[in-house]
Amino acid sequence: MASDFSILDFFKEYPDEEAARKYFEDIRWKDGVRCPYCGGVHVSKCAGKSPMPYRCRDCRKHFSVRVGTIMESSKLPLQKWLLAMYILFNSKKGISSVQLAEMLGTTQKTAWFLAHRIRETRGSEKGFFTGTVEVDETYVGGKEKSKHASKKLRAGRGAVGKTPVVGIKSRDGKVKAFPVKEANSKTLTGAIRANVAAGAAVYTDQHRAYRGLKEFDHKRVIHSVGEYVRKQVYTNGIESFWAILKRGYYGIYHFWSVKHLHRYVNEFAGRFNVREFSARDRVRLAFEGGFGKRLTYKGLISHATA
Ligand SMILES: [Zn+2]
Repeated sequence: MASDFSILDFFKEYPDEEAARKYFEDIRWKDGVRCPYCGGVHVSKCAGKSPMPYRCRDCRKHFSVRVGTIMESSKLPLQKWLLAMYILFNSKKGISSVQLAEMLGTTQKTAWFLAHRIRETRGSEKGFFTGTVEVDETYVGGKEKSKHASKKLRAGRGAVGKTPVVGIKSRDGKVKAFPVKEANSKTLTGAIRANVAAGAAVYTDQHRAYRGLKEFDHKRVIHSVGEYVRKQVYTNGIESFWAILKRGYYGIYHFWSVKHLHRYVNEFAGRFNVREFSARDRVRLAFEGGFGKRLTYKGLISHATA
């Protein structure tokens, strides 16, 4: 993708654990080390190579740069975290846990857990979409026919064995996407009302479930007559996002369980939303997106099926 930060640059700049630690600390503590427990700034550095190199003189707790981030409690070297963030956000279609494990020299289980924690840094963007917004839904998982066939049949049969995913895209290029239980009027219009500001121009296709969006300037793209692009009324933007998602699914991952589907969708939306950023900034955003987040292995495997 971007060449400002090649894998060679990466290893030149972050050749070891110490360099990776400094990288994370410089981003986390721009104005000096701060205790993640009490916010105190009276911090002592501990001697030696403790996994908790800092001690707060206010609350007396020991901590490292991992505490209070998605890396909390992980024993995996920081250099591997950094490399995994680099790989996941600079590979257009993502990376399988099998391949990530080979690249990092970990077990597949470790790589799988690591990648899910990095995905967790995405998908929490808040705020309503305004202006002109495209909305569409697609189906992921199970046996897939062609996209157009599934669209024709999506009133029911096309969705068999697959999970609907709703996508919202602004014309300035931001995407939010998430699975829903059923692509019916309640979930689709509900998704729009929860994420799009009233008065915005909302473009969808002719799916009946998109009826009744009276508080929006709602226009439909009539696919059936070949009218894919009617002046400005089109949904090609969100459809191009679906194309990337599906290339990743078929080309890289091959299977997403319903239970973790939202994480993979977050990964693709998150990567799509930083596509204009430099490779370096994508890594930084992955780390910053994990501040205040936590995903334990137990939580990951026991999470109720959506
Ligand atoms: Zn403290």
